[in-house]
Amino acid sequence: MAEPTRVADIISLIPLTPHTTELVLRPVEGPMSFKPGQWISLQLPVGDHPPLNRAYSLAEPPSSTGHLTLVFDHVPGGKGSGYLGSLKPGDQLSFSGPYGHFLLPDSPSTALLLVGRYSGLVPLRCMIRSMAAQGTLPSTTLIAQAPSGAEQLYHEEFLALAAAQSDFHYLSFVTEDPAAPATADAVKQTAGNGHRVTPLIAGIKAFARPLRALLMELGYDRKEVKLETYD
Ligand SMILES: Cc1cc2nc3c(=O)[nH]c(=O)nc-3n(C[C@H](O)[C@H](O)[C@H](O)COP(=O)(O)OP(=O)(O)OC[C@H]3O[C@@H](n4cnc5c(N)ncnc54)[C@H](O)[C@@H]3O)c2cc1C
Repeated sequence: MAEPTRVADIISLIPLTPHTTELVLRPVEGPMSFKPGQWISLQLPVGDHPPLNRAYSLAEPPSSTGHLTLVFDHVPGGKGSGYLGSLKPGDQLSFSGPYGHFLLPDSPSTALLLVGRYSGLVPLRCMIRSMAAQGTLPSTTLIAQAPSGAEQLYHEEFLALAAAQSDFHYLSFVTEDPAAPATADAVKQTAGNGHRVTPLIAGIKAFARPLRALLMELGYDRKEVKLETYD
């Protein structure tokens, strides 16, 4: 069933990297409940046939403020992300949600393997923060890929978590090539060689699909590999 359309005030727009912005919203009618990994659909007054619907993952778990935190990357020539970049605090946005089945397993029986490219890290970061806040973060490897050193989203935060929690491993790769062999090798090392993990992958198709294929070569069932693709 379609979720009702809601209106939200924009609380802040803060650059996280040269080409990504954190957008914090406050739904005017009160908090929305959601699960880490889910997304909302923004209805933007742009494009040839407005509204233009664009999906954005939630970056922060539910909080007492009811604020919804999104992060968007400025896609070159992108209609939706271009519009978001033109907004300012006090403006309003329409949205519906939450949506999506890219969720953590109820009680992971194996270690987690979280793999994301660029803004694909957003739902994974939400999951990690939720589990870390509740003290339920299992043994987890996060493999992150960024298009450049300056665009390593949440890099300092993940480094700090890895330093604080011996069970959290953070591997970061910088490459313009979403299908870069080094990232695939890291996935193979973590999920192959007799290791069994629960894999979740997010990002553009050119990144996510070859990694799912690799995991299937390693013996994982297609349904075991959770995928969230952005394009
Ligand atoms: C479930 C889901 C969750 C998502 N969560 C996020 C999120 O948290 N943060 C975020 O930034 N985006 C996210 N996206 C992508 C987002 O919905 C838009 O597709 C993206 O912002 C581009 O929209 P646009 O209107 O700016 O570009 P468009 O005008 O639609 O496209 C412009 C050009 O960019 C290409 N393109 C489209 N999408 C992407 C992309 N994601 N990366 C690179 N090139 C692209 C198109 O092929 C086209 O050539 C998510 C998508 C889905 C389906």
